[in-house]
Amino acid sequence: MNTVSYNDLEKLVISYSTFDIPKLRRAYEYAKKYHQEQKRASGEPYIIHPLNVAYILASMHADIDTLCAALLHDVVEDTESTLDDVEKRFNKTVRDLVDGVTKMTKLDLNNKKELSAINLRRLIVSLADDPRIIIIKLVDRLHNMRTLEYKSLEKQQEKALETLEIYVPLAYYIGASKIKDELENIAFKYLKPSLYGDIKKQRDDLKKETKEILEETEKMVQSIFKKNGIKAKFEIRYKDNYSIYKKLLTNNKFETIHDMLSIKVLVKNIRDCYLALMLIHENFTPINNRFKDYIAKPKTNMYRSIHTTVFGADNHLLQFQIRTFDMERVAIFGLTSYWFKYKNNAKNYMKKDLDFR
Ligand code: MN
Repeated sequence: MNTVSYNDLEKLVISYSTFDIPKLRRAYEYAKKYHQEQKRASGEPYIIHPLNVAYILASMHADIDTLCAALLHDVVEDTESTLDDVEKRFNKTVRDLVDGVTKMTKLDLNNKKELSAINLRRLIVSLADDPRIIIIKLVDRLHNMRTLEYKSLEKQQEKALETLEIYVPLAYYIGASKIKDELENIAFKYLKPSLYGDIKKQRDDLKKETKEILEETEKMVQSIFKKNGIKAKFEIRYKDNYSIYKKLLTNNKFETIHDMLSIKVLVKNIRDCYLALMLIHENFTPINNRFKDYIAKPKTNMYRSIHTTVFGADNHLLQFQIRTFDMERVAIFGLTSYWFKYKNNAKNYMKKDLDFR
């Protein structure tokens, strides 16, 4: 298991902020002290868990109160520490964040039988008057899913199912697609291990078979862009295992999934997005009905991008996803990226979006 140290966290935080580092260190020392008797199912000291949760949040450029709350998120639930003490040593915001996460944790322990998944999600959202509570809780679940191998078979099934029913939709609603994708792929692996294995093998084979073609295509497009004055960053992508599984359920065959292979094109502004699209259509034949302009018409979770599927080299279907670097941040972290950047404006937006109309 890859794990991080407190120094790794501190280094990462310094790289994107001028936060009060002594405060961060105090939160770490406090959590370490209170959790010192506890061990993870893996046998590691418990502090590894809050530390990793804080580290993942730091990679999303979370603010200092969120990071402190992440380090402290299990102390009130699992140890002698109290909310009043957390508030005294840190502040009211950290207290409220820890309180919210603790309430959510209690929910998924006790109320599961009486509540449908949708009601539970609604309840979670109503508890979270600060959207950061949801983000911390999602990352908490993500780290627990990454380390699920140490739990009993029964616990694995239970957690995997709960993740698919409750946390994946929550992650989708706030547009945290990177977290959503990882959560659903881990859950899938535990819930349907043999199907997961089959799909993974087919996907790995396809990767081997198409690697060269895609790299050549990337070079070719890059040189066309250069001639036309577009600076772009490329990334070759393969549809992930769980998304393939879902496509196969709706009568698709592995070979006909139109976005199995894609090239992500990141450019600096919207004008370059449309210019890039024009150049791609000039050089590759697009297929019908597979053009989506989410820049002109963003998804409800604020995702923006242009998608088009074309006949690539060797007649492989190839999807291009064209967006700006800013749109990419939102595509990965969703509204959370707005939250950490613009604070209160995002809070209003998130509340609206989380309203489960
Ligand atoms: Mn936790």
